[in-house]
Amino acid sequence: MTEVERLSYDVVVIGAGGAGLRAVIEARQRGLSVAVVCKSLFGKAHTVMAEGGCAASMGNANSNDNWQVHYRDTMRGGKFLNNWRMAELHAKEAPDRVWELETYGALFDRTKDGRISQRNFGGHTYPRLAHVGDRTGLELIRTMQQKIVSLQQEDKEKYGDYEARVKVFAECTVTELLKDNGRIAGAFGYWRESGRFVLFEAPAVVLATGGIGKSFKVTSNSWEYTGDGHALALRAGATLINMEFVQFHPTGMVWPPSVKGILVTEGVRGDGGVLKNSEGDRFMFGYVPDVFKGQYAESEEEADRWYADADNNRRTPDLLPRDEVARAINSEVKEGRGSPHGGVFLDIASRLTAEEIQRRLPSMYHQFKELADVDITAEPMEVGPTCHYVMGGIEVDPDTASSTVPGLFAAGECSGGMHGSNRLGGNSLSDLLVFGRRAGLGAASYVEGLKERPAIAQSDVDEAAKVALVPFDPPAEGIEENPYTLHGELQQSMNDLVGIIRKAEEIEQALTKLEEIKQRIRNVTVEGHRQFNPGWHLALDLRNMLVVSECVARAALLRTESRGGHTRDDHPKMDAQWRNKLLVCASSSEDPLAPGVTVTIKDQEPMRGDLLELFEIAELEKYYTDDELVEHPRRKA
Ligand code: FAD
Repeated sequence: MTEVERLSYDVVVIGAGGAGLRAVIEARQRGLSVAVVCKSLFGKAHTVMAEGGCAASMGNANSNDNWQVHYRDTMRGGKFLNNWRMAELHAKEAPDRVWELETYGALFDRTKDGRISQRNFGGHTYPRLAHVGDRTGLELIRTMQQKIVSLQQEDKEKYGDYEARVKVFAECTVTELLKDNGRIAGAFGYWRESGRFVLFEAPAVVLATGGIGKSFKVTSNSWEYTGDGHALALRAGATLINMEFVQFHPTGMVWPPSVKGILVTEGVRGDGGVLKNSEGDRFMFGYVPDVFKGQYAESEEEADRWYADADNNRRTPDLLPRDEVARAINSEVKEGRGSPHGGVFLDIASRLTAEEIQRRLPSMYHQFKELADVDITAEPMEVGPTCHYVMGGIEVDPDTASSTVPGLFAAGECSGGMHGSNRLGGNSLSDLLVFGRRAGLGAASYVEGLKERPAIAQSDVDEAAKVALVPFDPPAEGIEENPYTLHGELQQSMNDLVGIIRKAEEIEQALTKLEEIKQRIRNVTVEGHRQFNPGWHLALDLRNMLVVSECVARAALLRTESRGGHTRDDHPKMDAQWRNKLLVCASSSEDPLAPGVTVTIKDQEPMRGDLLELFEIAELEKYYTDDELVEHPRRKA
């Protein structure tokens, strides 16, 4: 029998980024005992890296803003493939979630008259991103941690123990979800430092593990983004949707090679920065797609006037949604008009004073100065696309955040549906607040409704431990594989063959490569012992990246159109027949190391009538089939 530390909670939240912390607060406020587990240090998550801000239609910078405008922008950004109910809840609830953070102690930047300041971002009609300089995520995490500490202080008074109701388990990686009779019963993992195993017994688990960027070679994501939550859910029998949609942020650093992929916030463009090619042209004016024609400035003069007078001018195409800008940069580079290191130029130096740049974008200033020896107050930055965000994720019920497995909930980047085929900048921080809260509530209600707690079979615990230890067993025959080599090969294939521009032939090559890695992963062997062993940690993460990559590739092959974060060179047009189709990934075998993946096509539920009426019929006609619009009241009229 494996030696395992056993702990028991009502709810286990896996992930201590914004989504996880918001879920913890809610479940604890409902009186439940909550464990929050994170594989990094507490406080280090992608949320802390968020720079630009959190989108919420508070209307502080432009009183015309409201939830309906935010809803429309979000659906347009996602090319109408979003789960409309999630987009509705998100647009309606985001302002309250931002206000609520101030009640926890957050302090956002202010307008001159003392309201929360809001900045422009791509695809948002009005300045909408509440921010703290370019360190917004840090403030979000800081205040939610502070809120958790204040709840722990209440618990100390009531129960004599700070950790009576909420306990943090940092540097602890969950490798498996365990079930009892089809329902969630707990989570199994290991302490990164000691390598010892730990079992969390709990009837409800909230996954808040973030994204999958480490499956790609060039990415803004850090080491934790190995798709763990996606893979844990899949192996537990839940479904994933929209996995073909991966966002390549248009502006990552391209030079020097050691920092390639690190993010340059969209706030640079929101605050006046413009993209230029090697000929000095502001090329984005040539890349406004048909669906956005008429909505963006057509001359540099109008675009520049818009920064000062947004009511009487149209916005600059530098702030088109991210998928459009990333593709435009890709084309400029391909056509020989790129910067010396294979990107394009992003110029803020000629647009704002040095003092203003340092005040508004302090992190960007330091990032370029320290990492690239570039002074962004004096010269342009070189930037290019970088894998940034996954729109695809665990299929959830919009209102309760429950997955298709009883007791399993998901929120934040690891969940799917909200952003459709492309996320607007700033909509992730608001997403994780809105749905983190809903996941905490959903999990609490589920636990309160249970008649009996599930139990975990010892054989399942032994099996989870056995699988985790496989990399210490050299293969009986065949060649030992190194996890770093396999990871490198996986990243290169995904980058080159299922990256920003895709075609069937290349995706098929990627799938062949993934099949090969599936065989080789069985021979992955690590040296040393279980105490802080990064090679072992990567070996375990690798199986998650592998299965998630297969989901991306299989769905990308099936969707024969281009939409948002999925561009097919061989099917370059958006096809209305595909708009309401969801590609649903499920695990096709119980193989713990390399399960297969099946993808099926499912119709989305049609948008509710009152929401559909928020759009002009002429706009809907660009996305919907004629049949879908027959019943539309304005069509009938
Ligand atoms: P995260 O904040 O990443 O948290 C994931 C947590 O899960 C971590 O604690 C991690 O340790 C834990 N975890 C993962 N796997 C396991 C496991 N197996 N076991 C235990 N724990 C695990 N969005 C915006 O809206 N506005 C912005 O301005 C913005 N800027 C960004 C800048 C950068 C550089 C990056 C990378 C992203 C940015 N984003 C922005 C996107 C946004 O930050 C993320 O999408 C969001 O923070 C994800 O939050 P989350 O709570 O879902 O996950």
